[in-house]
Amino acid sequence: MSTEPSVRVEDKLFYNRYLVDVGRPHIRVRAHKKPSRELLALLKICPARCYELNDSGQVEVTVDGCVECGTCRVIAEPTGDIEWSYPRGGYGVLFKFG
Ligand code: SF4
Repeated sequence: MSTEPSVRVEDKLFYNRYLVDVGRPHIRVRAHKKPSRELLALLKICPARCYELNDSGQVEVTVDGCVECGTCRVIAEPTGDIEWSYPRGGYGVLFKFG
């Protein structure tokens, strides 16, 4: 059995730093009344928990903590549910531990 201390993903993510490009989010959710299956999946698969349901039952994204893993892009960009691009140069995530 390993004697290494276990570290949760959430604890590692805490050390990342972000430079927010105010007013220019690099991910946008397409306007919708009822979320598609793909949008609902984003609530669970985003490691940074950027996606949430609002009070009207629609999926929203807050990109401030995005680690640019691209998982949501693979799931929901082909269906047109989101628009995804990398942040402008100098903005976005700064990884502290590789
Ligand atoms: Fe979440 Fe990754 Fe999509 Fe960023 S790119 S919002 S971290 S799933």
